[in-house]
Amino acid sequence: MALANKYRPNSFSEVIGQENAVVALRNIIKNQSFHNGYIFSGTRGVGKTTLGRLFAKALNCTNYDAEKGETCNVCSNCVEIQKNSHLDLIEIDAASRTGVDDMRELLESVQYRPSQGKYKVYLIDEVHMLSPQSFNAMLKTLEEPPGHVIFMLATTEANKIPKTIVSRCLQFNLKLVSDELIAKNLKRVFTNEKVATDDKSVDLLVELAKGSVRDSLTLADQAISHCDGNLTEQEVSKLHGVLDISSTTKLFEAIFSNSIDDVISEIKRYKLLDVNYDILFDRALSFLHANMVNNVLSDEESNQDLHLYYQFFTNGLIDAKQTGNKRDCFDIAVLRCLTFSEQSKNKLKKKPKLVKKQEPKLTASKEEPQKIESPEISIKPVEPLGDISSKKNGIELSPDNWFGLFEQLDLSGPSRAFFSNLQLQKVEKKTLFFNGIALFAERINEEDSINLIESLNRLGHEGYSVEVESSETVKNTPSQEWIKNRNKDIQEFRKEIINSELLMNLKENFGEEITEDKIIIIDHEE
Ligand SMILES: [Zn+2]
Repeated sequence: MALANKYRPNSFSEVIGQENAVVALRNIIKNQSFHNGYIFSGTRGVGKTTLGRLFAKALNCTNYDAEKGETCNVCSNCVEIQKNSHLDLIEIDAASRTGVDDMRELLESVQYRPSQGKYKVYLIDEVHMLSPQSFNAMLKTLEEPPGHVIFMLATTEANKIPKTIVSRCLQFNLKLVSDELIAKNLKRVFTNEKVATDDKSVDLLVELAKGSVRDSLTLADQAISHCDGNLTEQEVSKLHGVLDISSTTKLFEAIFSNSIDDVISEIKRYKLLDVNYDILFDRALSFLHANMVNNVLSDEESNQDLHLYYQFFTNGLIDAKQTGNKRDCFDIAVLRCLTFSEQSKNKLKKKPKLVKKQEPKLTASKEEPQKIESPEISIKPVEPLGDISSKKNGIELSPDNWFGLFEQLDLSGPSRAFFSNLQLQKVEKKTLFFNGIALFAERINEEDSINLIESLNRLGHEGYSVEVESSETVKNTPSQEWIKNRNKDIQEFRKEIINSELLMNLKENFGEEITEDKIIIIDHEE
């Protein structure tokens, strides 16, 4: 008998990792406050149909202990339901019976009283697969079901169930089961089955199960027969194509140090070993995630790289799912990281040594820019593009008119990106003094400066030169100004939403207080 069946929970207390749902189901029976239908949603193997069956058993058990919330497991109803032969527990796999005729036939039986127990329970698995007509037929019964009928709908994709159905049911979102609980359960099973294991082999099975109790037991089954009852890390790794966890660290060390040969030889090794690329993707992403969290307080530049690497791997994972070619997609993600780290290295190598006038005043770079009175006059002169000549030697550039002017520059690409992140600190003798954090300041090369100067020329501001200094922090950059304005727009949009009809509707349907903090506005321009 497969372990997954042998160790399927027989009572609520044996359910692993779904305490919230169990407590709620026990209370429903204790208080006899029933809904017409129940939805159990969650990924595969977390206990959806198991909970449905246990609930059906509890409803029909003749000796149910409402205080403890446990079935007796000996009355005929309990025994029949455990054997899956109870006449009043009707299980349907919606994946194979999607048609409206199937549903009509099923619903015709709803009116008949239960033959053995107190309740007739319809447990429909993968309910999201039903056709719209089938859902419609079901809806009519759900609106006014006979008192002895209870619907239980299990699904991995609750979002595909029509709202009209969802609104008539009580929904349980089952969580992924934690690694600790899965490990504990596996160890219990192995002890029971008299299977020898080492800790690492159990860890590998837990990692592969990804929060699914059923998967963990199926994987254990395979491992037991492969290893002939003695599970070792080496054998389980071989069986499932999983590498030692340190190999991910090794790969990233090679990427960080830009050792192309090491990276390529790792990729080749993976291919030879025919490894499990799902696990490789998972490990790469969690490695990067852990490092990004650790680095949050350290220097920004290395974290920027990690963010990019993370993006390469998430994109790779999406491509892998679409194309089915996981190995190629993983390799490409790795190569993208390499290309990127090579580029950024080269960039630093040819980092321009800008002419640095040893002007003592530059030490003031960390302080606020000097305030200049009446900023409102500043933007005006640069607005009309037509009469460039007239303002040629007119208004002087200054930190106060910089934002307005920057908007009008025809600067593009990296030059625009870099300068938008710098602060124009002061203008002296036709020299623009910028400062900014190293990430931007040190990447500006001569070409970027020339681009800026030429762009200024085209707006009639001629004869300027550019100086750039690195600083620890930076204030008042065009880019910060954009974010400020964008946030203002978002706040206004938020206000609009809060007073909108849409929100009134939501409040009505969800019956709960929707407060401002529950509204998340996703800014697609970011
Ligand atoms: Zn019983």
